[in-house]
Amino acid sequence: MFEKIRELLKPLIKPCFKVIASAQSFSPADAAKTRIGGPAYAGNSAAFPVCLACSKKLTFVFQFRQMPDSNSGELVQFFYCFDCSPCGGKKEDGQWLIRTFKDIIDCSFVDSSDPEHQIPPCKCSFEKINMLPDFESLEEMGHQVVKLCEKVNSDDPWDVYEEACLSINCCVEPVTSIGGYPIWIQGEAEKKCPKCSEKMNFVAQLDSVPEADLMWGDAGCVYLFRCRNHPDQFSLEMQCF
Ligand SMILES: [Zn+2]
Ligand SMILES: [Zn+2]
Repeated sequence: MFEKIRELLKPLIKPCFKVIASAQSFSPADAAKTRIGGPAYAGNSAAFPVCLACSKKLTFVFQFRQMPDSNSGELVQFFYCFDCSPCGGKKEDGQWLIRTFKDIIDCSFVDSSDPEHQIPPCKCSFEKINMLPDFESLEEMGHQVVKLCEKVNSDDPWDVYEEACLSINCCVEPVTSIGGYPIWIQGEAEKKCPKCSEKMNFVAQLDSVPEADLMWGDAGCVYLFRCRNHPDQFSLEMQCF
């Protein structure tokens, strides 16, 4: 039965990038690279985004390139208000921001976030990993897997699932990743596009990063989503223990 579970899981495997942060002083040559904290890539504008709820400067948290290992493709940038601490509710628009850049200008950056909440600069390296969905998300994608795991161990089907994932070298633990699957802390949170109501695609998750003094609540994680039909529509979910 274990072998059957593995076979059913293989088509669900998604390769993605695990992000590993290391605290290092900011260098302008890294302005447009995938990284955490420090000054934000700026493109053509020197303006720093502001929280629409409390009017304080947002904090630059994280940015990533579509192809982080070759440092190419679109740049996606994430800002957050640590005073308002949005968790992903509908009335929190403007308390966080995701913006994108297509044509990249070298060495363009803008300092700085609200000094109270500044995130120390971290360089990022990448590891190609394979991910499988959180057990919570399997009901939809791998209903049969859930049933089989319950048959093997009705008390702890999650344990069976984790063992199966690890045996085919797949990650099901919370990590900072670009792509892959969201690994939930509090349970599945589906996001719908406000324009077309379609389910949004998961794009990245940012775990708490001790190297950057970055903590989401109590060792939480932030999940970012994007609409496939409306590339300017993003959504956020923050979950913690
Ligand atoms: Zn705010
Ligand atoms: Zn849409």
